[in-house]
Amino acid sequence: MEKFPGNISSKLPNVGTSIFAVMSKLAHEHGAINLSQGFPDFEVSPVLIDLIHKYMKEGHNQYAPMTGILPLRQAISSKVHDMYGANYDPETEINITAGGTQAISSIIEAFVREDDEVIIFEPAYDSYSPVIKLNNGMVKHSELKLPDYHIDWNEVKKMITSRTRMIIINTPHNPSGAVLRESDMKELNTITENSDILILSDEVYEHLIFDDLRHESICRYPQLAKRSLIVGSFGKTFHATGWKMGFVLAPENLMSEFRKTHQFIVFSVNTPIQYALAEFMQDKSNYTGLSAFYQERRDYFVKLIEGSRFRIIPSHGTYFQLLDYSAISKEKDLDYAIRLTKEFGLAAIPVSPFYQQKTDNKVLRFCFAKKNETLEKAAEILCKI
Ligand code: PMP
Repeated sequence: MEKFPGNISSKLPNVGTSIFAVMSKLAHEHGAINLSQGFPDFEVSPVLIDLIHKYMKEGHNQYAPMTGILPLRQAISSKVHDMYGANYDPETEINITAGGTQAISSIIEAFVREDDEVIIFEPAYDSYSPVIKLNNGMVKHSELKLPDYHIDWNEVKKMITSRTRMIIINTPHNPSGAVLRESDMKELNTITENSDILILSDEVYEHLIFDDLRHESICRYPQLAKRSLIVGSFGKTFHATGWKMGFVLAPENLMSEFRKTHQFIVFSVNTPIQYALAEFMQDKSNYTGLSAFYQERRDYFVKLIEGSRFRIIPSHGTYFQLLDYSAISKEKDLDYAIRLTKEFGLAAIPVSPFYQQKTDNKVLRFCFAKKNETLEKAAEILCKI
């Protein structure tokens, strides 16, 4: 075990600097086009910026309530009702968080005890596993099956034990762009009914879904919703990942436990932004048009690289596109991503760090939430290779 001065051992000995930080730094050092980290380079709506300014000037600058301001919880409640037909009480079943990441962390902390098992699907968003371990839980991995990154529910069934406390799903899925279907939700229901298993449903890309697919929010399924905590993020929806604003939806009994950990991690989050978001969300077009907007970006990027030697793995949601380079090189994905950055001036994210076993399928993740000229420059490089 790694030791520090004074003989203090690391609680996360195998965790290093995240691959996102590594690739972004490398992109910066080599002046490369950065399609690695997942953030948009579009402007935040000036209307939203003005609203924040307005609420700051009006003096909304002190602590918000621990649960979040009521108008924002009401706005989320009506959005969820309109879009998914579910009812969440703004008082008792909705909470504002400092982004999706804090929501995930506080949920796991609230419910996972020593030796509890948590099932996650790999490739997986990088925060799940360390937080489970920090709470002395056991991470159980099921790999999504290629070529379309689907869940093998038979495998999941076999992984369930009396110690299974939680299953974490993520749809639309980072990094694959896969989305869960109604049939997946039915399988999940069959597996969990008659159990005490909780579900953490990471839905931060709920408004980025393509090809006329329906976002299968877990709240559409009442049987599943009663055991689920749903995580959302305003950063993805309003091109403002740097604001770190998110929310949790859960039935009252789960929400009251969640609030016990949430209140001691952040207590409450940015007050003027909450007021601004509550007002901004009154105009539904501020989020309902997002899928079409991003689908256009995806289609533009894919069309530009169609003639390249990279194999395009269809992305049905998120702002990520996976490309398989196995016809070009046998290098490890991390090595190839580094070479692509240094020699060709284009940074992407290798997918193996999203796996505990560093499974290498020769796939890189590219973020297409970028302006046309950036995508054009990136595509030009990819087509030359
Ligand atoms: N879950 C997934 C799958 C994500 O990709 C991200 C952001 N990269 C988050 C959660 C965290 O969202 P936030 O930026 O709001 O903390």
